[in-house]
Amino acid sequence: MGFPENAAPVDHKRRLFLANGTRTNHSSNSNSFLALSAGDPTMFEPFWRKMGDKCKVVIRGSDFMSYFSDVKNVCWFLEPKLGDAIRRLHGVVGNAVTEGRHIVVGTGSSQLFQALLYALTTPGGAEPVSVVSSAPYYSQYAEVIDCLRSRLYKWEGDAHSFKKEGPYIEVVNSPNNPDGGLRETVVKNRGDQGMLIHDLAYYWPQYTAITSAADYDIMLFTCSKCTGHAGSRIGWALVKDKDIAKKMIQYITISSIGVSKESQFRAAKIIGVICDGCENVQSTETDNFFKYSRHLMTKRWQKLREVLQHNRYLSLFKYPRQHCLFTGESVETLPAYAWLKCEEGIKDCEEFLRGIEIVGRGGKQFGADPKFARVSLLCREDDFNGFIERLHMGLQGEGKGH
Ligand code: PMP
Repeated sequence: MGFPENAAPVDHKRRLFLANGTRTNHSSNSNSFLALSAGDPTMFEPFWRKMGDKCKVVIRGSDFMSYFSDVKNVCWFLEPKLGDAIRRLHGVVGNAVTEGRHIVVGTGSSQLFQALLYALTTPGGAEPVSVVSSAPYYSQYAEVIDCLRSRLYKWEGDAHSFKKEGPYIEVVNSPNNPDGGLRETVVKNRGDQGMLIHDLAYYWPQYTAITSAADYDIMLFTCSKCTGHAGSRIGWALVKDKDIAKKMIQYITISSIGVSKESQFRAAKIIGVICDGCENVQSTETDNFFKYSRHLMTKRWQKLREVLQHNRYLSLFKYPRQHCLFTGESVETLPAYAWLKCEEGIKDCEEFLRGIEIVGRGGKQFGADPKFARVSLLCREDDFNGFIERLHMGLQGEGKGH
């Protein structure tokens, strides 16, 4: 979410040493860090490059000049073509119910998250509404809320330890960023005090089995993690309650008077190409985006597990294998991030990784122990291979040093 998630200020000149003082011994790029703290989904570029002109959009000078897209729609700034494409995509993949839902488009799902906080807490009471998510949680939830310092809502951290009385919002992120876990609500038995936001940014076939069409009241999705087009900044919310949708729209009107039509137009085209590829029964990894991306994720996870095999310093979770209604096969969860845990008394995983010139994001930012760190697996192939190489060399070095 947002710039901080994708920004990785890296000092390429600084040389790093291992925790025990020895210099890393790998040969390539030995004086530069590999920045993998961001969830920038560039791994999908080769697929879209191959699609060539199929995804080309032409926009004339006279196109999309109005603020308005469809004055008859509750979400008056939603391009009808994008609304249709989103409904078609969920229909094709089977990952969410769109019937009886309003689609609210946003400048990334980051903007929609803020719009939802506003919508669910306005007009506000004596106390700000608590917002929680079970740790490890997506770091930007806390960051956005702390940055806005609203009197309407307040970040209360880990849902597991949330005890306060009164209204609250629980954000359920499944599959979860950073650890890939499949999540359900955690806060229980609060009558009608609780409101839920289901952030389903990663509920797509390349990351996990599609086990049912999600049917929650408020669901967030984003092009960033579905198609990989983070730069277009298009996200969408599927919202059951018209009044909540209207308040979200009010927020987006105040914050940006709608959402770029050019981006919506392009997103509609990209989504259309994905749907065409999925509906073509003869499609292969070359023209079926989800087959392509799942294959790539599978290869990356195999390489990662291989390089970590038999080492004593870093470990990964095991993920479930489930029947996927989309592929018709039993598939493993393949998270977008490696959630690495340091073993053998190493206390700070982010620091450990820096010692082998890999920049990840430490567990603390996700409300977890510093012995964890998140590394993005959505990077370009060269960076991914560099990551594997550094792990390989670094773990050997670390092994010798201890
Ligand atoms: N939710 C989750 C769980 C995410 O990982 C991200 C992107 N890192 C977002 C929301 C926001 O995505 P965007 O603003 O790019 O749509």
